[in-house]
Amino acid sequence: MNIIVLLKQAPSTDSLIEPAADGVSIKTTDIKTIINPYDEFALEEALRIRDTKGGTVTILTVGEQKASEAIRTGLAMGADKGILIQDPACSKMTGLGIAKILSAVIKTLPHDLIIAGQRAVDDENWLVGVAVAEYLQIPCISLVIHQETEENMIRCTRTIDGGTMTIEARLPALITTQRGLNEPRYASLQGVMKAKKKPIDVKTLADLGLDAESIGTVKIQTLSLKQPPQRKGGRFIDGSSPQAKAAELVRLLHEEARVI
Ligand SMILES: Cc1cc2nc3c(=O)[nH]c(=O)nc-3n(C[C@H](O)[C@H](O)[C@H](O)COP(=O)(O)OP(=O)(O)OC[C@H]3O[C@@H](n4cnc5c(N)ncnc54)[C@H](O)[C@@H]3O)c2cc1C
Repeated sequence: MNIIVLLKQAPSTDSLIEPAADGVSIKTTDIKTIINPYDEFALEEALRIRDTKGGTVTILTVGEQKASEAIRTGLAMGADKGILIQDPACSKMTGLGIAKILSAVIKTLPHDLIIAGQRAVDDENWLVGVAVAEYLQIPCISLVIHQETEENMIRCTRTIDGGTMTIEARLPALITTQRGLNEPRYASLQGVMKAKKKPIDVKTLADLGLDAESIGTVKIQTLSLKQPPQRKGGRFIDGSSPQAKAAELVRLLHEEARVI
């Protein structure tokens, strides 16, 4: 089974994220980067399928040079090869443009299954995986917490509000991951050493026969990026007894907070 994992490098969720001076992007200096957590689930699932059914796992990323670090980590976890699409024009693209590029690359590769994260934790559009499936005209099953593949079929359990749903589709198909699908492995020291010899193909849009115009114009524009207002500190209520404290709390909720 030939599996392609759509993997995005994202800022670490424990980094301090602050808007940059332009007001529409984030400061990228001094930010630790990681594999987008939902894409780690995607990679882990791909590795498990390959390890039981055979085949290859290819990591596909659109990103800057630095994104090769995330691909290298994925190779150390066990993927067979990586492809990085690195082109200055990509920096002006939003999710649909990125999805068009990814689908153009996938069309050139043998593929039975594509696994994407449900969302990237930085831009959070929740759309790239679904859009790739649409551009490839293949079935898409989202929010998968369990999958079984047999011959040319995939059967998935996905989450819905208050329950689960089981869905079956023909391969090739694309699935997106949900928390609970698996517990991603850490790269072993042996994996890190092996990864140094595994190939990462770096390609530009021209190498793919694409240009920014053929991908289409950007239809949305970021106007501003703001952090939520800082939370005010907590307040202790004084009182000589629990009854006095409760009475003071009720007074404050009524007179100051005006919520009762
Ligand atoms: C170098 C670079 C610079 C960018 N600069 C800007 C900018 O200035 N302004 C702007 O609006 N947008 C910019 N973008 C686009 C933006 O950062 C996102 O890549 C795009 O909007 C996808 O949306 P998302 O992250 O919300 O993905 P989601 O739709 O939330 O992601 C869902 C899943 O799709 C896959 N996926 C998403 N992105 C990628 C990727 N790049 N490579 C491989 N798989 C992927 C992952 O599996 C992910 O879990 C830039 C992108 C790149 C690569």
